[in-house]
Amino acid sequence: MLDCSAMLSQVNQRIFAAEQKFKRVPNSVKLLAVSKTRSVSEIREVFLAGQVSFAENYVQEAMAKREELNDLLIDWHFIGAIQSNKISVIAEYFDWVHSVDRLKVLHKLNALRSLEKTPLNICLQVNVSGEQSKSGATIKALLPMLEACACLPQIRLRGLMVMPKLVMDFAGQQVQFAVLRELFLEFQHDFHGLDTLSMGTSGDLEAAISVGSTMVRVGSAIFGARHYDKV
Ligand SMILES: *Cc1c(COP(=O)(O)O)cnc(C)c1O
Repeated sequence: MLDCSAMLSQVNQRIFAAEQKFKRVPNSVKLLAVSKTRSVSEIREVFLAGQVSFAENYVQEAMAKREELNDLLIDWHFIGAIQSNKISVIAEYFDWVHSVDRLKVLHKLNALRSLEKTPLNICLQVNVSGEQSKSGATIKALLPMLEACACLPQIRLRGLMVMPKLVMDFAGQQVQFAVLRELFLEFQHDFHGLDTLSMGTSGDLEAAISVGSTMVRVGSAIFGARHYDKV
């Protein structure tokens, strides 16, 4: 059996080592535990080991788990593809959404987030490679979304997210992440409150941290290999 709490501490050590190596401020990179396909007992174990923020990709799966974990003060992030018929659930039950890639979704999330709740934290997902098969907004589509947020009171725009195409070499990983970092710096200059660059996973978190990631989304390095592929 895997020991999730030992693996969690290894991931935290990797993050800390990368912060030091790449001269980042200590503890400036936040860890998001990606718990898709994982059981509630695994999530509970990782929570009890000190991890507070968890991310899910599928609404139905996430809601079923939340019900069983509602005694824990977990910070829930949504990172999966957004289907129109699931937007109201996402707007109500998550604290963050990293996978917003269309203006229409942004408007709907704003409209469906209850007024008594704090605004929903949002990252815009960017398709840096421009491949049609990849999810994420094109770079050109970002500006209208950033501008729209000023008029959406239940949305709090926090930054950008990327799920780059899989490459094994460190320099190749850095190149893809650097595209997002450049965009982020540009947007930070023109828009208030952008503080999150959501990039880096189990296999490339060091490269992401080396070019400015502030939040890494890690699944298999904490919970072990998944039995089906990334979405
Ligand atoms: C599954 C997933 C991750 C985590 O990937 P690992 O390789 O397991 O660390 C991160 N981000 C997104 C969007 C994912 O779907």
